[in-house]
Amino acid sequence: MLEKCLNASEAISQADILNPATAADTVSGMKNLSVSRLVVTDVYGKVMHDTGAEIYPGNFLLLPEILNALKENDVFSWYYHAGTMYSKAAAPVYINGQLAGCVYITESDPEQGALIQTLQRNVLWITIILECFVIVFSIVFATGFSTRVRKILSSIRVIRSGDYSHKVSLGGSDELTQLADEFNDLTEKLQASEEQRRQFVSDASHELKTPLASIKLLSDSILQNQMDPDTVREFVEDIGDEAERLNRMSTKLLSLSRAESAHDINFEIVTISPTLERVSRMLYALAEKNNIQIIQKIYQDSPILIQEDDLYQILFNLVENGIKYNTAGGKLTVQIQRVDDNAVVQVIDTGVGIPEESVPHIFERFYRVDKARSRKSGGSGLGLSIVKDMVQRNNGTITVESALGKGTAFTLIFPVFDTEEFL
Ligand code: ADP
Repeated sequence: MLEKCLNASEAISQADILNPATAADTVSGMKNLSVSRLVVTDVYGKVMHDTGAEIYPGNFLLLPEILNALKENDVFSWYYHAGTMYSKAAAPVYINGQLAGCVYITESDPEQGALIQTLQRNVLWITIILECFVIVFSIVFATGFSTRVRKILSSIRVIRSGDYSHKVSLGGSDELTQLADEFNDLTEKLQASEEQRRQFVSDASHELKTPLASIKLLSDSILQNQMDPDTVREFVEDIGDEAERLNRMSTKLLSLSRAESAHDINFEIVTISPTLERVSRMLYALAEKNNIQIIQKIYQDSPILIQEDDLYQILFNLVENGIKYNTAGGKLTVQIQRVDDNAVVQVIDTGVGIPEESVPHIFERFYRVDKARSRKSGGSGLGLSIVKDMVQRNNGTITVESALGKGTAFTLIFPVFDTEEFL
């Protein structure tokens, strides 16, 4: 269109002057210019010629396209209406290099209009189909999603009723499946801890039952038999020992439950040797009785952040075991040193040692290697499990090495609390 308009403008600019006659002349010479309407105006928008014969020469036609062309711009615009595409173009006309007016042409194209109409219809159909697809997809997705969520909810209800072995199985690999997997992990842990709790209650009742049964048996024997005073005295002493064992066990059970409830932790910055000194004093009599020599080797005693009561209990249990499971004339060495940023405490004895197959179990509750020997020495199988819980809640680690018949070494590691670093 614009090219046609520029050609017409070029043809008109060949005239010497622009007036209705020259304009009509030139336009009639443009045979193959197939446009619906061609208007020629002068510089003021006054019509010189109009092939549409709608405006007579001498009248003004101030269309936006014409005004724009008179500002020396080439103009093109189009619009679509009722199945037809209408296009308009305008271009300035120069005669002898001077702006003399403009050419304005219009054309209506039903073919292109039909094309646009088809396009419009197609876009409408595509939009409708897409919307239907989105609606169907949303319904299917929402139904699938809520079914899966319902599955998780009903599993939660089953587990709440106490069946920890129940598992959610969703399939797929989306976030809900991950949620279900996490949920299954959680229930597995719950099941394990429930199992542990049950085991603990049954172990604890069994352990408490044994000394109680002994007390009952001994007291029945005293009551039912005619005994000489010395035997009665012996039996009563045995009753006292069993009662003492019950007492020790309940104290250990209490400190175990204290170690488990980590809420009331009260950390202090302490060095290890003063606590070790207290422990040695407490166990001195037992060491003397068993003929065990306690040796302390303090290479470097660094401050650590710990609950002092826990540190006392940890050292007490380890040193007590080192005496109990030692052989007469044996040694128990406690070494304190610093390795890099860690305080390392080693409790090494020259005692009976632990069989290889028992080493992985010694930190379990109520586990005793030699039940008879342990019971004789007042053991409950709780001491090391208390130690492990306490070490862990004070951010430490404990390891053990043992050789049967030669001795055992426990190694405690706690991070050093360098006060300078925290100042
Ligand atoms: P117990 O109260 O019976 O001593 P522990 O939990 O303290 O219970 O120890 C568990 C078991 O580990 C003990 O029964 C004993 O057989 C073994 N044990 C612990 N410490 C030593 C050690 N220093 N030497 C040899 N055996 C040990």
